[in-house]
Parts: sequence; C-alpha cells; structure tokens
Amino acid sequence: MHWSCTAAGWTVAEYRTTVARGYGQAHRNARNRLARQLPAPCYVCRETIWPDEPWHCSHLVDGDPSAGWVAAHPVCNQSMKARRRALRSRMRRW
Ligand SMILES: [Zn+2]
Repeated sequence: MHWSCTAAGWTVAEYRTTVARGYGQAHRNARNRLARQLPAPCYVCRETIWPDEPWHCSHLVDGDPSAGWVAAHPVCNQSMKARRRALRSRMRRW
C-alpha cells in the first residue's frame, strides 16, 4: 500500500462528511445561484465579494439547507462557524 495516497484518502473522507451534513447537490445549486449574484456583500463582514476571489457558500442556518444560503469570505465563514459553536456550547450549559 502506498501511503502517499493518505492525502487523497483524507479528501474523500472529508467529502463524505460534507455530503452527510446536507451539502452535495443542494449546495452546488445554491453556489451556482449565489455565483450569479456576485459581486455581493459578504454575509458576515459586509465587504463586497468579487466573482474572482474565493468565497464560501454557507448555510444560513447550520445544517438546515431549506433556510437558505449565503455567500461569505472563507475566513468569515470559519469565524462564523466558530461563533455558532461557542454559542451552542453556552446554550447547552444553561
Ligand atoms: Zn467577509
């Protein structure tokens, strides 16, 4: 077995996780729809996202594709997710 395949294997695992979370076809459709609306303000920081820069198509409500999708900078998307996680753990405690 070639362990140089490890990186590719990780990508497949991540892809499966992504699909299991409700991404997949719905995510692709939403991303295409959002891509046509660029340039648009980032959902998090409100700075304009230009079509030629990297951006993420993110759930408006995490894990609920029916709630809609928003465009956000990759960095903003990550910080938003981190904030949501912090919020959830606080809510569990109370
Ligand atoms: Zn942003």
